[in-house]
Amino acid sequence: MAKHEDPVCKMVIDEKLAPEKYDYKGKTYFFCAKGCKDKFEKEPEKYLAQKTK
Ligand SMILES: [Zn+2]
Repeated sequence: MAKHEDPVCKMVIDEKLAPEKYDYKGKTYFFCAKGCKDKFEKEPEKYLAQKTK
């Protein structure tokens, strides 16, 4: 029951319930909606840079 954070809106999503997902640089990102995925696809680095690791 893995949970993932939507990198665009920061919502936490259950992997099985995520309506959208996208593979980028070998990692899968999950999104609450197509709109979030579309934003991420356009500027993935922008959203990944915001995340503190
Ligand atoms: Zn979202």
